[in-house]
Amino acid sequence: MMNKELIPQQNCRIDAVNAFLKFHIEAAVLRLDLLHPVISGNKWFKLKEYLKEAGALNKKSILTFGGAFSNHIVATAAAAKQFGFNSVGLIRGEKPEKFSDTLNDALSFGMKLFFISREEYKKKIIPNEVFEQYDAGSIYIINEGGYGLKGAEGAGAILKPVDASGFTHIVSAVGTGTTLAGLLNAATPSQKITGFSVMKNNFSLQKEIEDLLIEKKEFHLIHDYHFGGYAKYNLQLIAFMNEWYRTTGIPSDFVYTGKLFFAVNDLVQKNYFPLHSKILIIHSGGLQGNRSLPKGTLIF
Ligand SMILES: *Cc1c(COP(=O)(O)O)cnc(C)c1O
Repeated sequence: MMNKELIPQQNCRIDAVNAFLKFHIEAAVLRLDLLHPVISGNKWFKLKEYLKEAGALNKKSILTFGGAFSNHIVATAAAAKQFGFNSVGLIRGEKPEKFSDTLNDALSFGMKLFFISREEYKKKIIPNEVFEQYDAGSIYIINEGGYGLKGAEGAGAILKPVDASGFTHIVSAVGTGTTLAGLLNAATPSQKITGFSVMKNNFSLQKEIEDLLIEKKEFHLIHDYHFGGYAKYNLQLIAFMNEWYRTTGIPSDFVYTGKLFFAVNDLVQKNYFPLHSKILIIHSGGLQGNRSLPKGTLIF
């Protein structure tokens, strides 16, 4: 399934959503979740240019950071393996007694895991243990979440396999903002781009995204749909995700895309989007993270 192109783009498709037609809003979902069951959509795109650079610099190992359920960690592990690199994951917090499915997947792709305290993680300190096992000069470091110019460059290719030119609006969930920056760089000048932050009060995002833009472009960040913070959820969100699946057939994850679909649905009811808008909703994947929910929480 994984080819040298890294992204099996033939699986990419746009699904129309009829739920908002009664509000005179057309919407469609770009299904990046279909690219791979575990290695979620936008992460492939964000990693691509980093891996190219690591290869050009003759690096042997890819090192990055993430939590125990991180889509970025598992995607990096898979992509590194695919391109013949070793991979090293620095995981936030104590080594758990029982590994998450995400960490087990990362291990199965050959990633070496090191657990670091929350304080060290914040400072992104690489433990000496790593350098005892890997030559420092052979390591290529990718930021947490793939944040950076190369990440945005890769994410700019998200719109390439499809014709997105007819949409008036493009909306996406936002973590580091790298994906949104890529979308902004790739969108037409008239397209309105809105990002929904999944973190609570992460207001530094505005500048962090602006720093990744090739040309200045306006965009909107909405901070009202984090449901308490990163990876927090409640019954209302879960009920919505199940209902959204029932009506559209589209699964979502509780960290990113569930909150995005909830937000778009809510804002359509509140007439946030002008009549006759055509909204492209980016399904950025992340479904693997739902495995951390109690069994039976979701109907898909
Ligand atoms: C990582 C991730 C995001 C956030 O992407 P950023 O580029 O960090 O903003 C959105 N959706 C899913 C499913 C993700 O895994």
